[in-house]
Amino acid sequence: MIPLKRPKAPANLEKRLAVKSKSLTENYADAKKARDAWKGARAVRRDLKELLASMAAGFVRCMYCGDSLGTDIDHFKPIARDPLSAFIWENHFLACSHCNSNQKRDQYPCNHSGECLLVNPSREDPYDHIRLNLPTGKYQGRTEKGMETIRVFGLSRPDLELGRAHAYVRCESMLRDWSTRIENGREDAANTVLRSLMVQPFADVLYAMIKKSDAPGAANVFEADVLAALKSMRNKLETQDVMDSFQNP
Ligand SMILES: [Zn+2]
Repeated sequence: MIPLKRPKAPANLEKRLAVKSKSLTENYADAKKARDAWKGARAVRRDLKELLASMAAGFVRCMYCGDSLGTDIDHFKPIARDPLSAFIWENHFLACSHCNSNQKRDQYPCNHSGECLLVNPSREDPYDHIRLNLPTGKYQGRTEKGMETIRVFGLSRPDLELGRAHAYVRCESMLRDWSTRIENGREDAANTVLRSLMVQPFADVLYAMIKKSDAPGAANVFEADVLAALKSMRNKLETQDVMDSFQNP
């Protein structure tokens, strides 16, 4: 999971969402009524999906696992729990069908004060709550919220851990390749590698590498040439917003 920049919904869509929300309120909608209204709002769902796709990492990757294609609109706060949030733009994320239907479903754990215990990637940095062991691809919760997020979204699935471990090998290799091309004065070829690196699945791996390369002890985590490449990549991307580079090309 990486932080995501949520764009403002276009005025026209915002207005249609407001009309739908108003109708739910006026009809005292329960979960069933809200679900029916959601299913019936085909055009709104299509436009929401398009907007969410522009916010997703890489080629429309799931906003939770970062691996599979994001196909479903997930209600972060489930309709079962809050029917009136069914049409709230900030409550929508794009998830793969596995994360949406097999993992998260209607889960929305909260602590004693009622604060949600799931990391909301459009409001906070998942890295503050979840750490990634790069060579093994395993996630570890740093906070209660991080642990609940890993549990609810199933982020310790063996296929995801293996995928992240292999993504780490690819990232190291591509960073070395990128540096070599720059050293050889092949800037266009270097940019091609960099672009490909930014949009590959498991963006959380490269994101964790960038964060770790800036933290104390980075020299113990990375080999010298990879660390140098990460630093020069950070410098290069500093002129633009680094998170923009992860988003849909
Ligand atoms: Zn997923």
